[in-house]
This record gives sequence, structure tokens and C-alpha cells, in this order.
Amino acid sequence: NDVDESEKKIEKPIDPKKPVGNNGEKVKATFVTLARNRDVYELVGSIREIEDRFNHNFHYDWVFLNDEEFDDEFKRITTAMVTGKTHYGTIPKEQWGFPEWIDTDKAAAVRKDMRERKIIYGDSISYRHMCRYESGFFFRHPLMEQFDYYWRVEPGIKIYCDIDYDVFKYFKDNNFAYGFTISLPEYKETIPTLWETTKKFIDENPQYVDKNSMKDFISDDGGSSYNGCHFWSNFEVGDLSLWRSEAYLKYFDYLDQAGGFFYERWGDAPVHSIAAALFLPRERIHFFDDVGYYHVPFHNCPVDQKVRLSHRCSCNPKDDFTFKGYSCVNRYYKVNQLKKPDGWQQYGD
Ligand code: GDP
Ligand code: MN
Repeated sequence: NDVDESEKKIEKPIDPKKPVGNNGEKVKATFVTLARNRDVYELVGSIREIEDRFNHNFHYDWVFLNDEEFDDEFKRITTAMVTGKTHYGTIPKEQWGFPEWIDTDKAAAVRKDMRERKIIYGDSISYRHMCRYESGFFFRHPLMEQFDYYWRVEPGIKIYCDIDYDVFKYFKDNNFAYGFTISLPEYKETIPTLWETTKKFIDENPQYVDKNSMKDFISDDGGSSYNGCHFWSNFEVGDLSLWRSEAYLKYFDYLDQAGGFFYERWGDAPVHSIAAALFLPRERIHFFDDVGYYHVPFHNCPVDQKVRLSHRCSCNPKDDFTFKGYSCVNRYYKVNQLKKPDGWQQYGD
């Protein structure tokens, strides 16, 4: 017969690992998750959310970090879920333990006191190691060195809307350094001396504060006190060079020496947020008003119906925290003179 051979050829399936939607121009970027082996079944849901809403089109890698060795079950399950490459790292002991200059008796007395005062995670040692690690070390892990951008994902989160653009390329093209979805004031009991310590650091190193910083976001009185506003760090998209900068490395070291990760309960969220607000020009901090996000107990659900419909968001705008009285995103819009989305008043309080 005279059928053209080429017509009979079955088209090769598209390589599932080939990036689409960004013309194959992949940014050096990765998801990163700190987790324990027992977190795996809460984590698969988060991975599924990220994959279904975003990464099935882009196939970015995923780095998993743990203070203990990951077991085979954790690796098997997460590898099956992620459409990019997966990497598994163990954290060096000296980055997950008491530094030698910490008085462990004093730290124990603080935990006892915080337990009695019922301060959230106040009695936990591992939570403090976690906060210190996320503040000062995750970006220096050898597995992270090959990457320029990261997106932090925790177990139990939801992504409510389709993300049809390459978030990392968008970050790179716009020179964004830090992105967030939710912001609120920190519990003051966990950070009694964080601001005093920060002020001492910037008095000694004024050159690190950007002349167009977003200091007015974290202070209502020109810098004399901290208003507690922080970006919720269970979701972060960022440029790793922010944390690898001389300014941040010195700042972290200064905080670490001061001991507040153990003598108080400094979280990585206020530490990252204060640094981003001081060391970056304000235009490098990005609020994601289009992705929809949940981590217990707060929701970000785009209040603009046009956004929700076009991105197929599966959330109720009545649950949105963004414009509620307690949310610091109101302040973010104000200090940056941004226009709030249509219909926001309906969802404030
Ligand atoms: P919360 O969101 O502040 O309530 O804190 P989480 O319990 O979600 O912990 C924050 C992140 O650190 C999550 O990604 C956890 O999986 C991880 N994490 C917390 N504690 C530990 C720990 O002791 N070891 C490891 N490897 N990961 C931890
Ligand atoms: Mn969490």
C-alpha cells in the first residue's frame, strides 16, 4: 500500500518532566519542606494541592529536609507525588541542637514558665530547633545550593486557585525577593526582646537598612517599637540570595548569639519578616492576591469574584482573612499605597 509511513507513526507522548507554560525556560528553583517521617500522610495532601494547581505544568524539584534520616516509605510516597525531581537531606546535628553558648538550665526554666503560662509551643524544644533552622540554615543546606529561588510548603496546607503562570519566573522577571499570602501580628510573649535586639543590630550596622525599606509595615511609630506584623512563613516564595546576603547572615548570627530562640521562643516568621522589611526595598516584597491559601486556622481566598472564577478557586470569600481587622495585609496596602481589590469591604469586619 501507499500510505505515508509517517502518518502511521504514533506521536510520542510528551515527556512528563518537560516544563510547559514557561517555554522551557526553567528558573533554578525548588519547593522545600521540612518534615518528620510521620508527617508524610499530612504532607501528601499538600503536595497534591501544589501539583494539581501549579507544578504539573512546570515540574520544579522538591527538597525535603529532616533532622533525622528519611525512611523509605516517606521517600517512596513523596517521589511518586512530585512531578519534578525529589531530593532528601538530613540536617547536620550542630544546626539542630543547643549552641554551646546557650545555658540549657536557663532555657529549661523558660520552657517551664511558658508551659504554665500556656504559650503556644512554649514548652517545646523541637519547635525551637525548627524555628532556628528555618531562620538560619535551610538556605545553606548543600541540596539547596543549586537553587536561586524556593517555595516553602508545609503539611496540611491548601492552594485554592489555579496558578497558570510560572511563579518563579514571575519572581525573577519582577525582581521580587519575598512573597507571602497571609500576615498577622505575632504573639508578643514569644518575642519580648526581639525588637530591642534588632534595634541594637541596626544601630551597629545601619548600612544594611534599605533606604526604601518597608519599616513602616513593621512599626507604627517610626521604628521605636515593633507592631508584631509578620508574614506567615508556612508559605514563602523567595529569592535565596536574601537569606544568603551578608546583611541577613550577620543579622541571624546576632540574634542567635543573643539566645532568643531558646530563652524566648522567637519564630522564623518574625525573624524573616523583620529582615525582609528592613533589608529589602519595599517593591521587592510581593503579596499573592491570586493563589488562595490555607494553613490552619487562616484562609486567603481572593475576594474579587473575577479572580476566583477565572482561577477556579475552591474557597469561600467569607472565610478570607486578608481584610479582616486583625490582618496585617490592611497595613501592607496602606503603607504601600496600593488599591484594595473590588468588593473588599464586604469581607472586612
Ligand atoms: P506550626 O505551623 O507553627 O503549627 O508548626 P508545624 O508543626 O507545622 O511545624 C512547622 C514545619 O516544621 C512543618 O513543615 C513541620 O513538618 C516541620 N517540623 C516541626 N517540627 C519538626 C521536627 O521536630 N522535625 C522535623 N524534621 N520537622 C519538623
Ligand atoms: Mn504548620
